[in-house]
Amino acid sequence: MDIIIGAGATGLSYAAFTDRDYRIIEADSAIGGYCKTIKQDGFVWDYSGHFFHFRYPEMEQFICEHIAPDTLLRCRKHTQIQYGDRYVDFPFQKNIHQLPQQEFIDCLYDLFCNPYTEYSNFKDMLYCKFGRSIAEKFLIPYNEKLYACDLNTLDCNAMGRFFPFANKEEIIANFRQSDSASYNDHFTYPSGGAIEYINSLKQRVPDDRLLLGERVVRIDTARKCVVTDKRELTYDRLVSTIPFPQLLQLCGVEYDASLYSWNKVLVFNLGFDSKGDDTRNNWVYFPSKELSFYRIGYYDNIFGSDRMSLYVELGFDKDAAIDVDYWFERVLSDLRSAGIITTQQLVSHHSVVMDPAYVHINEQCTADVQAKKALLAQHDIYSIGRYGSWTYCSIEDGMCEARATAKL
Ligand SMILES: Cc1cc2nc3c(=O)[nH]c(=O)nc-3n(C[C@H](O)[C@H](O)[C@H](O)COP(=O)(O)OP(=O)(O)OC[C@H]3O[C@@H](n4cnc5c(N)ncnc54)[C@H](O)[C@@H]3O)c2cc1C
Repeated sequence: MDIIIGAGATGLSYAAFTDRDYRIIEADSAIGGYCKTIKQDGFVWDYSGHFFHFRYPEMEQFICEHIAPDTLLRCRKHTQIQYGDRYVDFPFQKNIHQLPQQEFIDCLYDLFCNPYTEYSNFKDMLYCKFGRSIAEKFLIPYNEKLYACDLNTLDCNAMGRFFPFANKEEIIANFRQSDSASYNDHFTYPSGGAIEYINSLKQRVPDDRLLLGERVVRIDTARKCVVTDKRELTYDRLVSTIPFPQLLQLCGVEYDASLYSWNKVLVFNLGFDSKGDDTRNNWVYFPSKELSFYRIGYYDNIFGSDRMSLYVELGFDKDAAIDVDYWFERVLSDLRSAGIITTQQLVSHHSVVMDPAYVHINEQCTADVQAKKALLAQHDIYSIGRYGSWTYCSIEDGMCEARATAKL
């Protein structure tokens, strides 16, 4: 029998794809992992904006099979950056012509007369590819707020295909004809929130295969046995979707903890009594270090509803102690100074800390994950998903990995 640890999108996908017998062990009392939805006072919120950009039509069909098509919103993405006194289209590097003239000239000059030629980390890559001005006006401050770390410590390719690269020709071409092509140019969103995707997947999993409210506390790799806070279960194959360092600890595998770093994201979901001024953006990026959040999103602009409904994201170091009450007041104050809250009254709110949120990817860590995954595979243990593979990927990527593992 297979034991699957975690009933998030990846664990449920593995269960849905496999032909083998299995049980899913989930510590929480509900399925979904990070892909949960909160319904409160008429607002629909996720743990953070969870929008699906499918690359593979068969995956979209698979996960949407039990969602009524007329409840699935298809949105063309509209996103901007609040920069000084204005909004600039995202991505910043392709829209520098929307900056004040002198800043535009600085960006253009630095892009073409760029002394930086070599790079071996994420920060230097930004200087090399885009020049000092684009790097320092947006790419560095924004990503420092998000990742909450020194960008020198990240791999050049830390964001993989999620980084909106653009060469000089594409940047110039965009001055005349906006080309919003990006990995998530369009996205889908169920009217009942992202949990609808999870509920759809769950339709393929019989209730008696799902053990909720049960935590795995130890894994005996020699006896092929999982110890939970309720029982012991033996397995033929173990599929884990929990954060990789946590799996190593449960298996008693020694590892260098200093190689593993990540950020936490504090998310506030905020509901107001009336609509705000921004009726167009799906989400907005904030590079200013004066403001606590790096990104906010407008659920009301996705649903077309008449009350402002926001998610607000703040990045923290993995070891930071987060005083949620302090940050709640600070966020409201910052939303006022950024002009997001004007006359609207807050009528409902919710918060969650996502820990880990973004893995800090670097070469040493990636090599260690690969070596240890290969070692675990010799014991029929497979670690998959964004946190299981300790990487930066989408839910669809996690589903693809689950399908590939189910076919092994
Ligand atoms: C801020 C933010 C925004 C994001 N936005 C998007 C987006 O728009 N689109 C997108 O595609 N992806 C997005 N993601 C990524 C997405 O959240 C993840 O890829 C996905 O939810 C991971 O699913 P998973 O099943 O692999 O892991 P998880 O959802 O983390 O599930 C793991 C499960 O394991 C359980 N568990 C942990 N420890 C134990 C234990 N010891 N015993 C038993 N159970 C245990 C947990 O309770 C959890 O339910 C975002 C992530 C973040 C942080």
